[in-house]
Amino acid sequence: MLVKTRCEPAELKLLRYLNRRKILSEKEMNYYLNMEKGFLGEKKFDEWIQTNLSKGWLVLHDLLLEYNHTVFQIDTLIISPELIYLFEVKNYEGDFYIDGERWYAISNAEIKNPIHQLSRNEPLFRRLLQDLGYKTLTEAKIIFINPAFYLYQVPLKTPIIFSSQLNRFANKLNMKTFEIKDRQLKLAEKLVALHLKESPYIRLPDYSYNQLVKGIPCAACHSFMAALTLETLICESCGCKEAAYLAVMRSVEEYKFLFPNCKVTTNSIQEWCEIIQSKKTIQRVLSKNFKKIGYGKYTYYVEK
Ligand SMILES: [Zn+2]
Repeated sequence: MLVKTRCEPAELKLLRYLNRRKILSEKEMNYYLNMEKGFLGEKKFDEWIQTNLSKGWLVLHDLLLEYNHTVFQIDTLIISPELIYLFEVKNYEGDFYIDGERWYAISNAEIKNPIHQLSRNEPLFRRLLQDLGYKTLTEAKIIFINPAFYLYQVPLKTPIIFSSQLNRFANKLNMKTFEIKDRQLKLAEKLVALHLKESPYIRLPDYSYNQLVKGIPCAACHSFMAALTLETLICESCGCKEAAYLAVMRSVEEYKFLFPNCKVTTNSIQEWCEIIQSKKTIQRVLSKNFKKIGYGKYTYYVEK
């Protein structure tokens, strides 16, 4: 039973927005692409769970928890009365090897040993669990979801599940018969309530309004759109058309997300959208979807 779904991380959303409107530094770009890839892997694993795991298990995706002033993240947690699994999902691709405690790409570039993260998180989770009054056994695994990942020199007991082992792992999990009781449901609820909405680790790239290209990126391919008529926009790259009011709504959402401290006004949104000629179109969208504050040239809009 799915208890908590995965949300798109705010940091990823921010990087997606910025990537369309400014040139990211090489470091920022790598960080962004890794994050996209990681998120894609997590979603793939979510789908896998949805399709392959028997419905008895309680499933919680993407938990950000705190124990003893230490914040830790669990990609996916599955709960049964006897056993709780913590999964860390990696979407690595290519050949890697282990040498002692260290992990390397085949190019010999060292990467972070993901086991360290796991062995830091599991005890924190176990202690949190104890504080909540549960003594359920826990097991932590790294899921390498990408079939194009290969790891050399893996010691036998390493807590890893490769994509080629997932089906057998599902069989093992589905063989267990159990009944979820109120007690487990309560635990799942408590964990959802403890989930922190914002990660303290977000590393924001610097950006300012003036640095960003104005305009409306196409919802499908992210190229900037052009006005076809007063009411319709067109993307010249992919041919996609969109009603102007919908595109303005998307732009307002983006503007508010990127500049939470700036006022939403007809002028600020028109400048941000750049290609909407008619102030009336913008005014209509704003007054329909937001609450109007003030009068005349001092008018601005806030959430209803
Ligand atoms: Zn397009």
